[in-house]
Amino acid sequence: MKILKFGGTSVGSVASIQTLLNILKNEAKAEKPVVVLSAMSGVTNLLVSMAEGAVIGNEFTAQLAELERRHFDVVKSLLDIQHQNPAFTRLKIHFNHLEDLLQGILTLKELTPKTRDLVLSYGERCSTLMVSKIAAQYFPEAIFVDASELIKTDSAFGQAKVNMELTEQLIRGFQKENSDKMLFVTGFIAGNDAGQITTLGRGGSDYTAAIFGSALNSQEIQIWTDVNGMMTADPRLVKKAFSLPELTYTEAMELSYFGAKVIYPPTMIPAFLKKIPIVIKNTFEPEFEGTVIRHDCKASTLPIKGISTINNISILNLEGSGMVGKSGFSGRLFSLLAREQINIILITQSSSEHSITFAVQPDDAERAKTLIEQEFELELLANKLEKPAIERSLAVLAVVGENMKQTPGVSGKLFHALGRNGVNVRAIAQGSSEYNISVIISAHDLAKALNAVHDAFFVELTKTLHAFCLGTGNIGKTLFKQLNAHSDFLQEKNGIQVKIAGISNTRKMVFNADGISLDTWEDDLQASDEKADLKGFIERMKSMNLPNCVFIDNTASPKPIEFYEEAFKSNISVVTCNKIGNSASYKQYTTFRDTARQHGVDFFYETNVGAGLPIIRTLKDLMNSGDRVQRIEAILSGTISFIFNNFKGDANFHDVVKMAQEKGYTEPDPRDDLRGTDFMRKMLILARDAGYALEASDVEIESMLPKACLDAQSVDDFYAALKTEDAFFANLKNSAEQDGKVLRYIGKLEDGKVAITLQMVDENHPFFTLSGSDNIISFTTDRYKERPLVVKGPGAGAEVTAAGVFADLINVGAN
Ligand code: ADP
Ligand code: ASP
Ligand code: MG
Repeated sequence: MKILKFGGTSVGSVASIQTLLNILKNEAKAEKPVVVLSAMSGVTNLLVSMAEGAVIGNEFTAQLAELERRHFDVVKSLLDIQHQNPAFTRLKIHFNHLEDLLQGILTLKELTPKTRDLVLSYGERCSTLMVSKIAAQYFPEAIFVDASELIKTDSAFGQAKVNMELTEQLIRGFQKENSDKMLFVTGFIAGNDAGQITTLGRGGSDYTAAIFGSALNSQEIQIWTDVNGMMTADPRLVKKAFSLPELTYTEAMELSYFGAKVIYPPTMIPAFLKKIPIVIKNTFEPEFEGTVIRHDCKASTLPIKGISTINNISILNLEGSGMVGKSGFSGRLFSLLAREQINIILITQSSSEHSITFAVQPDDAERAKTLIEQEFELELLANKLEKPAIERSLAVLAVVGENMKQTPGVSGKLFHALGRNGVNVRAIAQGSSEYNISVIISAHDLAKALNAVHDAFFVELTKTLHAFCLGTGNIGKTLFKQLNAHSDFLQEKNGIQVKIAGISNTRKMVFNADGISLDTWEDDLQASDEKADLKGFIERMKSMNLPNCVFIDNTASPKPIEFYEEAFKSNISVVTCNKIGNSASYKQYTTFRDTARQHGVDFFYETNVGAGLPIIRTLKDLMNSGDRVQRIEAILSGTISFIFNNFKGDANFHDVVKMAQEKGYTEPDPRDDLRGTDFMRKMLILARDAGYALEASDVEIESMLPKACLDAQSVDDFYAALKTEDAFFANLKNSAEQDGKVLRYIGKLEDGKVAITLQMVDENHPFFTLSGSDNIISFTTDRYKERPLVVKGPGAGAEVTAAGVFADLINVGAN
């Protein structure tokens, strides 16, 4: 025989009860099950709120009416008209009792745990009564069973302890007498010797099912709920959580003890003792296999099974020399807390024995502190102990799984994921059973931490990067287009999902933690009522507190640079095509690098030099592997390459520059290219990455422009000057051509010195054949000294630059 337990949502509406009936019809074809039911979803909470409200004088009439309405609506929809009235009458009797009870609480302004249990019992009594009547239309043998007459407990109201022997006898006896019946049993509630109602603890209907399962030696206990079984993490917090096909009892216990609400932890014990499998199934997707909890699970390759959390705890910290080497100290402490029924969630002690930290429910913290101060009064007076301190608003995150035992590196992975995301760990505990590693963190960081840890352990899943993008010009736009076009590929082949969580240009900004659609981002930004505000953008990026967060600067403005450091300090990686940051002062350059490193995040700027060409990365790889740069020679201005490659034959310089501008190869002001400033920045960044502490003023720039052109006040004046100086340029060209050479504007780093000069090179020079707007760079190093390492290709343009930013982005967190 099987036990089928249906949770709150499974009996929470007309539709779900219809589904439940279908599940029963299907199941009953084989054998009549025993059915255990919870209160309708939200009802237990409502009862708690009515009772607690009444103590402080709050009216409950409206809530009671709501409760009635929910039950009556179901009866009206699902019960034959002729059976409705008797059901209404029986329910109404319950509601009247409940009303009397609440009235009593309101009058006396007192709510004892005993009365509270009685109030709560109406949730299960009403729902089970209602469902058993409805079910009787299809299963005439259906009967309502009040579990308080069968499950016998002590009088610890709120969390009563079951007398298993007696209970099992009573259940067996009852079942024998009613073997032809189909039992619909109230979950959660029980009774003490005096016949008073007790409860088994919140979520306790699962436990009721296990108690019946054990008593009746059932072949299986099914827990029907509203999710696809036990998942790797709470699906409300981790969208990528997935269902676990199998768990051992211990794993299920650890996962549920630490917050995974899907099954009530004590449920495991009776099932474990009798080796009865527990199957967690989804009422709303009955075909799905769900999770089986049993003894022998197939070996799994994952080091952990899941991650669970408790989202609101307090810790108490005890410190002092009085504890060192004193064997009875912790004994005294914990007996005291046990005596006063303060439940300890987690304990850690430093190996110096100088401090003990333990976690409790927030409501218990103040009481625990007072008790400790009383118990250890003498030690406090003698300064052997410091006054205990309470820290609030904390959370526990625990990774759970039996495989952890044989797998080194689990805690390394956990702490790396937390550290990288700037989550401060306040305390750590690992049980010696090695089924669980728990950390205490700020409650504020919980969602971020949980998602980051989930990504870290379940690598075969997609890793999600949350990007905040500044700038929607050519590069920004192209990046979004590329991300949109390749999102499926990224997910399937690289297991990476990029969510654009924020976009800003100079006018507007827009945010969405679930990702801004890359089909409609322009409209979304346009329609946003948030005005652009760089500081506000950074604040939002920080406060959204998303895991694997990346700040992308696709602007050429000096303003965002001011916020890079703040981003690193908030454990946010930075990807930028903006050269201004790295080419400002050397101090600034090293601060970026060091701050990113200190916070364990990435700072990628491949597109600062040669757009998407792998130049920075190549140089870094050389340096990191112990090579040394002897010389770098480079042409890093696509604009100037284009100009010189077209400045031949009859062409005049003025017209070639004009054409370059018209074709979009120059900056809006072509002087920015021709003066060499942009080239200088790139050479400076390369020299710094090669290990030289240089400033911009150290770079020698030989201007290729005559004085009149340099002095021009406007773009028009500049073009006029180019025309007047035509002879100067023609002369350059002719003398090069005469010798079979070409003009090249070449940057060189040698012996720690950087110079950019105009040169005429012949066909033996590797830069002779450079075409179009290509860039070329040659590295002569200790290893590449006979023949240099050369990188060559298109070094400008939105497509290749955006592709470089794209590559940097998906490399974030890769190491
Ligand atoms: P029921 O009313 O059916 O007993 P519960 O609300 O007690 O249902 O438990 C189911 C809920 O548990 C799910 O809706 C889900 O939000 C939550 N939950 C928390 N952690 C997990 C987890 N690791 N796996 C599945 N569900 C979880
Ligand atoms: N109705 C009870 C609760 O909400 C018991 C349960 O649903 O398991 O805690
Ligand atoms: Mg539950």
